[in-house]
Amino acid sequence: MARRKCPSCGKVDEILVIHDKDSVIKKCPNCGYVYITYRAAMKPS
Ligand SMILES: [Zn+2]
Repeated sequence: MARRKCPSCGKVDEILVIHDKDSVIKKCPNCGYVYITYRAAMKPS
């Protein structure tokens, strides 16, 4: 239910999540548009 359309290519139904060291990047798997980046301060248990 949390699907988003990519504002760049407009046809995304999945968001690519990349964990890069201590940050998380969510981007479009089609065109590479970055939705959001944030620091992953809390480690999942
Ligand atoms: Zn896109």
